Amino acid sequence: MNIILLGAPGAGKGTQATKISDKYGMPHISTGDIFRENIKNQTEIGMLAKSYIDKGQLVPDEVTCKIVEERLSRDDCREKGYLLDGFPRTLAQAEALDKITKIDAVVNIDIDFSLLMNRLCGRRVCRDCGESYHVSMLQGATTCARCGGELYTRKDDNPETVQSRLAVYTEQTAPLIDYYTKKGLILNFTGTDDPPAVLFGEITAELDKLAR
Ligand code: AMP
Repeated sequence: MNIILLGAPGAGKGTQATKISDKYGMPHISTGDIFRENIKNQTEIGMLAKSYIDKGQLVPDEVTCKIVEERLSRDDCREKGYLLDGFPRTLAQAEALDKITKIDAVVNIDIDFSLLMNRLCGRRVCRDCGESYHVSMLQGATTCARCGGELYTRKDDNPETVQSRLAVYTEQTAPLIDYYTKKGLILNFTGTDDPPAVLFGEITAELDKLAR
């Protein structure tokens, strides 16, 4: 199965993506993670991406599409398909993706924007395994309960940058819901403050039907 996860920043894409890729044994491809890895390693792509990410803007389509095309050409994507998290984010990216692959389903997590500012600004992420937490649940802990890695606050999880990321989502990414609805690929879900396992159950109930 080749799946796309769509949703505003903070909707829970990353959390669901980890669980879905574990369940179906497919690689989880997050363009945000790829950029952050490049920033950490101070590559040319990383330096370019950083200038956009820090402002809450999108990295140019050309750069992003090239990275994804290269990633999808690897062997692990041919075995059980793949899960794209955070790509595509523009119509141009969606059209470029159509040229190189066939998508089976688009999981769209719709969420009330009023929940997102608190979620993102209170988010703490594990440097090692990428697990995310909300600061209100950590009781002062500074390390990851899953792997012991150090927890940090993403540089783009601050009120100003979050505003800009949400505006970018509304203008450039939300139109993809219509794009994939017209193709008959959308599966719609509602994100809430319930534990992630609830949404995961709803999503996998639908994906199980496709996997059969
Ligand atoms: P994420 O981890 O998905 O929230 O992505 C963090 C940041 O990386 C975004 O705010 C963008 O600046 C950049 N980014 C991630 N995916 C894309 C994409 N598909 N197109 C352009 N920029 C992206």
